[in-house]
Amino acid sequence: MTGRRAFLHEALSCAGHLALASAAMPLLARRAWAAPRGARVVAVEPFGRLEMVADGVWALVSTPLAGDMTTVANGGIVAGRSGVLVIEGLMTVAGARWLGEQARALTGRWPTHVVCTHYHSDHVNGLAGYAGDAGHAVVHLTAASRDLAARNTPPDAIRASALATAIVVDPAAPTTLDLGGRMVRLVPRSGHTASDVSIELDDPAVTFCGDLVWNNMFPNYVDARPGTLAASVRAMRRGGSVRYVPGHGPVATDGDVARYLDMLGEVEVAARAAFTRGIASADAAATFRFSPSLGDWAMFSPAFLPRAFEAWRRELQARGG
Ligand SMILES: [Zn+2]
Repeated sequence: MTGRRAFLHEALSCAGHLALASAAMPLLARRAWAAPRGARVVAVEPFGRLEMVADGVWALVSTPLAGDMTTVANGGIVAGRSGVLVIEGLMTVAGARWLGEQARALTGRWPTHVVCTHYHSDHVNGLAGYAGDAGHAVVHLTAASRDLAARNTPPDAIRASALATAIVVDPAAPTTLDLGGRMVRLVPRSGHTASDVSIELDDPAVTFCGDLVWNNMFPNYVDARPGTLAASVRAMRRGGSVRYVPGHGPVATDGDVARYLDMLGEVEVAARAAFTRGIASADAAATFRFSPSLGDWAMFSPAFLPRAFEAWRRELQARGG
């Protein structure tokens, strides 16, 4: 594929190139997905695992590097007395159906709600898996994400119907979803795409970050506005013992999010220097190295780093430097 079609194909998935990359992925990068010591894992599949992160809250940590693309993105389950929320439509119908079945096994109820954090295919493609004989989850996403998802993903009648009947998340202010004794905030943000949503609980303190946060792996800047991305992540941090479920990679602590922000900052410094000196994004990325103190950042694809520099170049050019 070449030109616009290739771009669209890649843009569809924020974890594009995974299958290609996994064959050559060093052991180090595979370890990036490993469950931390003490994680309460309740289910393991070739494509991911489900970890209890708090009472009534579970994180799906997808592990696509081995080549199984059933889910690709992370997701989650939040249980209340009167409703069960699942997070993300995931990459395939089978993946979403699996998460729905896990929700039913853990909570006794089929998901009543699903929130998609943004339009990328690994977050919306499987939406039809939450609708069927077992039940029907109401979809929540922003109008911008709904429209982009409808335009950019292959036709699927059930998903099209789910998107058409979705509840539109307010793009200007947080929305509270009452699951019965459990309040969940849907917070509109942006930076990974033009319209992102984080899902936030105060008690227990858990934030589902969507792709605004990636842990142990370098993010895809395909639609990113890098300055906005960093500002959104800073605004999302609450400190203390909050558990952050990133869009990709293992569940994160506040320290992990701080390290991610430091990493984004190093890219910014290098990208600004390249912009000022007129160095092409590809050349700047080729010589860029992270500080050793940032640890290891798995790279899905060699394209991701030049893409980050290019996103910065576009942003700085639009701002006039
Ligand atoms: Zn994404």
